[in-house]
Amino acid sequence: MDFNMPEETQEIINGIKQFINKVVIPLEEENRDLLYNERKYYLEDGRRHPKVEELRRIVRKESAKAGFYTMFGAEELGGGGFGPLTALLVNEAIGKHYPHRKLIEHVVIPSPFTNGLTPVLNGLKQELKDKYIEGIGSGEKTLCFGLTEPDAGSDVWGIKTRAVKDGNEWVLNGTKQWISHAHYADYCMLFAVTNPELQAKRKGGITCFFVETKLEGFNVDSVIPVMGSLGGDATIISIDNLRIPEENIIGELDQGFGKAMNGINNGRLGMSGKCIGSAQWALQKAVEYSKIRKTFGKTLSEHQTIQNMLAECALDIYAARNMALNCAWKIENSTKTPTKEISMVKAFCTEMMGRVYDRAIQIHGGMGLSNELGLEEGYRNARLVRIPDGTSEIHRRTIARSLLKGDLSF
Ligand SMILES: Cc1cc2nc3c(=O)[nH]c(=O)nc-3n(C[C@H](O)[C@H](O)[C@H](O)COP(=O)(O)OP(=O)(O)OC[C@H]3O[C@@H](n4cnc5c(N)ncnc54)[C@H](O)[C@@H]3O)c2cc1C
Repeated sequence: MDFNMPEETQEIINGIKQFINKVVIPLEEENRDLLYNERKYYLEDGRRHPKVEELRRIVRKESAKAGFYTMFGAEELGGGGFGPLTALLVNEAIGKHYPHRKLIEHVVIPSPFTNGLTPVLNGLKQELKDKYIEGIGSGEKTLCFGLTEPDAGSDVWGIKTRAVKDGNEWVLNGTKQWISHAHYADYCMLFAVTNPELQAKRKGGITCFFVETKLEGFNVDSVIPVMGSLGGDATIISIDNLRIPEENIIGELDQGFGKAMNGINNGRLGMSGKCIGSAQWALQKAVEYSKIRKTFGKTLSEHQTIQNMLAECALDIYAARNMALNCAWKIENSTKTPTKEISMVKAFCTEMMGRVYDRAIQIHGGMGLSNELGLEEGYRNARLVRIPDGTSEIHRRTIARSLLKGDLSF
């Protein structure tokens, strides 16, 4: 076993840090007033200010030119083809060194499966690849992932958006909810029922369509602000007689469910990496503060209760980091997707981040609650990540089902 950071990955991380320090941070500083004041950052309807979107577009394009934006895309799509281990470590580094930045997360590197050269696009027909991939890879155009609906979240087999064949086109009708970034996206990977009988048996019947969001019949109705924000990334979409040509089916007809799950699995590891990095940042803050803040004539770090809290954070982070690394290694070195392990990593890392931020806030006392240090923002984020990409309960369900089917391997 070799636990060293691969040299190539270390070089990539150094390169990204250099890029962020040279290109992104100066742009953020120039626009600090807009970016770090939510009343300016969001419009009244919860969308980001167009100037913010323009800044994000600039960073995406610069990152694409530098090769970072596309590094996890498949080589056939013009991406760098880097695997889950690199994705985990790069996301960890970003979470650790640049938490709570407005032009970094989901911008320097796109959100793992919902944007950029996502693996879902591997199934596009060649003529559509020729037409769309360059724009997506350059960061000029963006995507969203339209699966969840008002009555179907955890149980995605329950989606109701229906696609009916009409000549050489499919006509889609339905409602989607919680779709991230749809209000800015140029294209949507939209999931609809094409064969209700297969869907009822949970054996297929759901198809993934590549959709231009400017088409008549694709409407972003509203933004859902979440966790104390004045705006948000999640949206509600109505699909109203949206006509999509047959060739816009991604992959096989009726086989969209596997596509959705494969995409989401990739995202789960990237998200876990960010949680691990961000938790390390919070622990570092707590350690530093504990050494300077005095109570009862001693620094906090001299009180055993505080030492225990710091140690609990380290236990959590070390466990999370190593299980995620092991899982990434399993994905890269096995022909079978380690579904049980991916679920363990997603559930553990997101929950771990919440515990670490909770202790870090507690160690900071009142200061921990102020919105100046970034700890309360991280805490809100930690609470949020336990829901998308599979809730903690659904991951426990997946783990238990694997165990009960006889998979007791570790
Ligand atoms: C910020 C955000 C961004 C998102 N982005 C996207 C996106 O871009 N695209 C997209 O398609 N979706 C997106 N989602 C949707 C997300 O995937 C769903 O919210 C998630 O799958 C949970 O579905 P739900 O909210 O309908 O909860 P429900 O499925 O209604 O579950 C409610 C509660 O019941 C629990 N529960 C459900 N079934 C079981 C069970 N069998 N056993 C035990 N407990 C159970 C759940 O864990 C949860 O606690 C996003 C969600 C959020 C919050």
